[in-house]
Amino acid sequence: MSQNSLIADPSCMDDFDPNSLLADAALQLILQAIQPTTGFEKVALRSALGRVLCSDVLSKIEVPGHTNAAMDGYALSGIDLPQEGTATLSVIGTAWAGGPFTSAVRPKECVRIMTGAPMPTGTDTVVMQEHAESSDNRIIIDARHKIGQNVRQAGEDIAKGQTVLHSGRRLSPADIGLLASLGVGEVKVFRKIRVAFFSTGDELRSIGEPLDAGSIFDSNRYTLYGMLTRIGSEPVDMGVIKDRREDTFNAFDEAAKCADVVITSGGVSVGEADFVKECLEELGQIKFWKVAMKPGRPLAFGRIGDAWFFGLPGNPVSVMVTFYMFVQPALRRLMGESETSPLLLQAHCESKLRKKAGRTEYQRGILSHDASGRLSVAKTGAQGSGILTSMSQANCFIILPMEAESIEPGAEVTVLPFVAIM
Ligand code: AMP
Ligand code: MG
Repeated sequence: MSQNSLIADPSCMDDFDPNSLLADAALQLILQAIQPTTGFEKVALRSALGRVLCSDVLSKIEVPGHTNAAMDGYALSGIDLPQEGTATLSVIGTAWAGGPFTSAVRPKECVRIMTGAPMPTGTDTVVMQEHAESSDNRIIIDARHKIGQNVRQAGEDIAKGQTVLHSGRRLSPADIGLLASLGVGEVKVFRKIRVAFFSTGDELRSIGEPLDAGSIFDSNRYTLYGMLTRIGSEPVDMGVIKDRREDTFNAFDEAAKCADVVITSGGVSVGEADFVKECLEELGQIKFWKVAMKPGRPLAFGRIGDAWFFGLPGNPVSVMVTFYMFVQPALRRLMGESETSPLLLQAHCESKLRKKAGRTEYQRGILSHDASGRLSVAKTGAQGSGILTSMSQANCFIILPMEAESIEPGAEVTVLPFVAIM
C-alpha cells in the first residue's frame, strides 16, 4: 500500500487537512508493525482468567464421558415402548448420578434413573417421571415416546482429541469452566506485557500537590492506569515529566528499558516544545501522524530501543479515544490475542450532532432502549476534548464516518458500546 492511498481524499471536505492519515489506515499501519510476543508461561487455571492462550487446547477425554440421562425418570429399552395403548414394565433398581446401576436391564424391565446417571446396559431411552404411572415397582407408559429420547450421548459435547480452545483466545469465565470440565489444571498463556506511561507538561500537578495559578491535576495517568489494568497488562506509572529536555530524554530512556510499550500523553501537538520530538528522534524511530479524527488528531507511533511507543494527545478525552482506537488493539495483538473486531451496533439518534466532513468523529453517547424497545442513543452533552465528564457519563462512542456532516435527530448512527472494549 503506498503512503498516498492511506491519505484521505481532500475533495469536498471543508475541514480536511490533506496531510492527515485516515483513522483506519493508522490502525492498519500499527497492526502491521506489531507482532505477538513470543514469551509465554504456564499458569494454574484460575490465574488464566483474562489471559491469552498461547497454544491450542485439545481434549483428552469425551464430554460427557458416559451416555447418561438428561432427565429424572425411567431408563428402558426403546424396543419396549408401546406403538399404541400402554406397556407395563417392572422397576428393578435405581441409577444415581454418582452411583451407577451395574446390572444389565432385560426386556420389559426398567431402572429408576436420576439426571446425569450413566445409562445402564440394555437401556437407550429415558421416560420422564411425570410421564410414567408408577405403583408397586411397576410403571405404565403410553405411546407418546420416541426411542433414544432424554439421553445425552457420550462425546456429544466434546469428542476426544477435539480442539476446544484455540491459541490467541482471551479466556473468559466460561472458558476456564470448560477447561475444568476437561480436567485441565494448567494452561500455557502469553506472558504479561509491561506498559510504562507518563504525562508531560509543566502545568500538571499530582494529587496532594497544591494547585497554583494555571496548574491542573493530572488525570491522564489515572485513565491510562485504568485502561491498561482492564486489558490485563502490567502498568508502570512513571509520573509527570516537566517540559525540560533532560527530564524528557531520561524519562523516555528509562521507560523504554523497563517496558514492552511506552505511552506518553501531551507534548505531541503543534506548538509543543520541540525537544519532545527531538528526544524521540534521537532515541528511536517515531512517526508523527495527524490522524483525520476528532478528538485526538496528533498521534505519534514507533519504537524507542526495544519498546513500542505511543505518543497520545494531552486532552483527557483524546487520550481515552486514541487509546481505545489505536493502543488497545495494538496491545491485544502484542499480548497474542487473535484479531478481534468489536461489535458495532446501529442506533436511532435522539440528539442533533454537530460534525464537519473530513474526519472520523467519536462522540460520547448514552445508549438505551426507548419506549418502543428500539436501541436509541443520545449525546452526553458538550463534546469538547477536555470534558472528561462526557466520557464518564457515556456508555458508548457514537462513531461518525469521515464523510458525514451534522446529524439530525432521528438518523441512524453507528455506536460502539463500551462493554465491547472496556
Ligand atoms: P498538550 O498536548 O500537551 O498540548 O495538552 C493538551 C491539553 O491537555 C492541555 O490543555 C493540557 O493542559 C491538557 N493535558 C495534558 N496532559 C494532561 C494530563 N495528564 N491530565 C490532564 N490534562 C492534561
Ligand atoms: Mg503539554
